[in-house]
Amino acid sequence: MRKYIIAGNWKMNLTLEEGYGLASEIKWMVADEVNNNIEIVIIPSYIHLSGIQNLLKDSSIKLGAQNCHHKNSGAYTGEISPAALANIGIKYVIIGHSERRQYNGETNEILAEKINAAIENGLTPIYCFGETLWERENNLELTINECQVREGLFHLTEDQIKKVVLAYEPVWAIGTGKTATSAQAQQMHSFVRELLKEKYNKETAESISILYGGSMKPENAKELLSCPDIDGGLIGGAALESRSFVEIVKSV
Ligand code: PEP
Repeated sequence: MRKYIIAGNWKMNLTLEEGYGLASEIKWMVADEVNNNIEIVIIPSYIHLSGIQNLLKDSSIKLGAQNCHHKNSGAYTGEISPAALANIGIKYVIIGHSERRQYNGETNEILAEKINAAIENGLTPIYCFGETLWERENNLELTINECQVREGLFHLTEDQIKKVVLAYEPVWAIGTGKTATSAQAQQMHSFVRELLKEKYNKETAESISILYGGSMKPENAKELLSCPDIDGGLIGGAALESRSFVEIVKSV
């Protein structure tokens, strides 16, 4: 069955020393966690990846990148190649985080290409989707999320979609301290799982992890993670502090 995934997105935070310090603390604090049903993932900025990978080599914690380009190489100054990430042993890559959709103009079309590139290189994409506050207030959340999921992912074959992790991240809950209620989150997760069922089949839909992201913290993690269709968390702010991140891991 599906594994829980608890992934910490550090965004554009922490110096190299701070990053190494945080990764070391998390490593030691989860060393006794023998729950094989949880995958712990750290997603620091690119410059930390190799160093932290070295630091985690005797740990089961996995590493992810916050984005990648849709081409493997070429004249794309400042971009990061999915092939290069795979080559150094990175397992996950976030695709379509709302901050990239908002500040970098990433569209569902370009994200679909990034998803392809990630899968072709053996990376597991964490595909983010979510509605803005305006969209929710205007009862558009189901339409918007369906569109992001369809356009970003539904060109994939059944074998390929099984390699994707989804993350429902309502934009109004990211970094704001406002969390979707467990009922709101569960409703969206179950809606998306239904879409997966209709497009693929029940067995495939049931095998895909759908994470929740948006101000998840130790105080609300247990309730969110106990919902039947919530398979883990993509965590921003609370992942920058070892104690709160590990508390969330222990809430599973
Ligand atoms: C995120 O950036 O994916 C996120 C969920 O951030 P936060 O936990 O800070 O809301």
